[in-house]
Amino acid sequence: MKRYLITLGTLLMTVAPGFSAWHEMTKPSSGPQVILGQYSSGCIGGAGALPLRGEGYWVMRSHRARYFGHNAAIGVVESLGKKLKGEGVVLIGDLSQPRGGPTNYGHRSHQIGLDIDIWYNYLPLERIDNPPADLDEKGEISFLQADLRHLDPKMWGSFQDKLVQYTAMDERVDRLFVHPAIKERFCQIHGGAPWLGKIRPWWGHDDHLHARLSCPADSPRCQKQPPLPKGSGCDDSLTWWFTGEAAEKGKEILRQDREPTPGPPAPAMCSSLLEEK
Ligand SMILES: [Zn+2]
Repeated sequence: MKRYLITLGTLLMTVAPGFSAWHEMTKPSSGPQVILGQYSSGCIGGAGALPLRGEGYWVMRSHRARYFGHNAAIGVVESLGKKLKGEGVVLIGDLSQPRGGPTNYGHRSHQIGLDIDIWYNYLPLERIDNPPADLDEKGEISFLQADLRHLDPKMWGSFQDKLVQYTAMDERVDRLFVHPAIKERFCQIHGGAPWLGKIRPWWGHDDHLHARLSCPADSPRCQKQPPLPKGSGCDDSLTWWFTGEAAEKGKEILRQDREPTPGPPAPAMCSSLLEEK
């Protein structure tokens, strides 16, 4: 009986590996590209690597090795860079680890190669050959005024408007998360646009947007999210985001993101991705 229990314990450990096992992977697994599980509990086999310096975009903080993803996510970054290359260099934050899985800090999602963080600050074209030394280190910059309620008009401009709009218009993108003040701005200037409902208010997105793709057709084991509510989202549901209740809830959500705890177990098949070194 005792032996049986030990075996069961070992089995459970292999089914639900901790953060470090995923964090230690330095390259994608071989084999076909496949997504298993869901955004906050899953993995990706055969992930693609986003080139670190592409046309119109740069990958930031590449030492984190979170620039891996499904080919569709890589395609979203590449087309965004091409659309904005005449205006500035788009700065790309985290996608996923080489085989996805839970990250040891910063996110609960980003586990299946379909989440992309894109900074609102960008590199002006005249600085390409002479980028600020602290570009990586300084990181993403908040675009809010000191009241933490309104966008700073001295910072937010046409580059950021296009960044959000082009991302929302990309058919591969299912939804994107932004600060509620950005959603409010888009409701004011783009009322009626068919892609407006994809722009979702969420905590912690005053310095970057988070684009999330739909499950691709090549990955039947990718678990879809509930569909977005119908409509533009420019209604009472947006007003709620500026209440004290929303601010309170946000504190807890952001705390969980900083120090993620293991979510629901990833599909058992994910552990086989860790076997290949
Ligand atoms: Zn994100």
